[in-house]
Amino acid sequence: MSPTTLKNRKDRPPKRKIPRRPRQKRIPPLKNPQHQRLQRVPRSPARNPVTAKSGLARAQRIFERLNEHYPDAKCALDFKNPLQLLIATILSAQSTDKMVNTVTPALFRKYRSAQDFAVALPADLEKQIHSCGFFRSKARSIQGTSRILVEKHKGKVPDTMDALLELPGVARKTANVVLGVAFAKAEGVVVDTHVQRLSRRLNFSQQTQPEKIERDLMDLFPKKQWILLPHLLIHHGRALCHARKPECLKCPIEDLCTSDEKVLA
Ligand code: SF4
Repeated sequence: MSPTTLKNRKDRPPKRKIPRRPRQKRIPPLKNPQHQRLQRVPRSPARNPVTAKSGLARAQRIFERLNEHYPDAKCALDFKNPLQLLIATILSAQSTDKMVNTVTPALFRKYRSAQDFAVALPADLEKQIHSCGFFRSKARSIQGTSRILVEKHKGKVPDTMDALLELPGVARKTANVVLGVAFAKAEGVVVDTHVQRLSRRLNFSQQTQPEKIERDLMDLFPKKQWILLPHLLIHHGRALCHARKPECLKCPIEDLCTSDEKVLA
């Protein structure tokens, strides 16, 4: 070995130690079984195990503030019994609750039972619900649903998710409305257009399909809040958190909202 090589080796600077990445602090398991599930399955920001605990606390703060701000939040559809609520909810698809409420008083005076709807002349029913839009397919759904109610449920609206989902024109949103509002049963969370938009803005879910958003909300909020939560979000969506120009300066949860769509000028 030549003296030059030795010299070169000695002159070489010592190897730099690469600092080890500090160990991540273990998040203690949460007591609520729903929340434990949330920690295990990181599928969306709300389910990220690192932010799960703070995400849950933040979600609760948002719920409480909205509850204080909208103490009268409830279903905006007018109805007197589960059948009327079911029909009104079918009519509300692609329409507004306000519009449905202008149509239903005369409709429910004319057709008082599932049997009345089942045997109605389609043309008459279509005329009656015309202003709600999609009147032909809605009339078909109402009549198909009413026939099944008469044939299988003695004219009554069933109070289980499975039975409701068998009715034509009834998907999870309508079933959740009927179960929550008419029967006070929390089987899921109503996800309409307002709930979809606000769930995204408030980072409760980044999913786009209603069923997946519903799952995220069910993981993030305890079951006892599943019925009221969508009413609060819908009220907030109508009052301030509009799709086009949210009124963020008046928003009671502005400090908890991290949305890029905030308008603060
Ligand atoms: S701050 Fe704005 S975008 Fe966020 S929830 Fe309030 S109104 Fe909606």
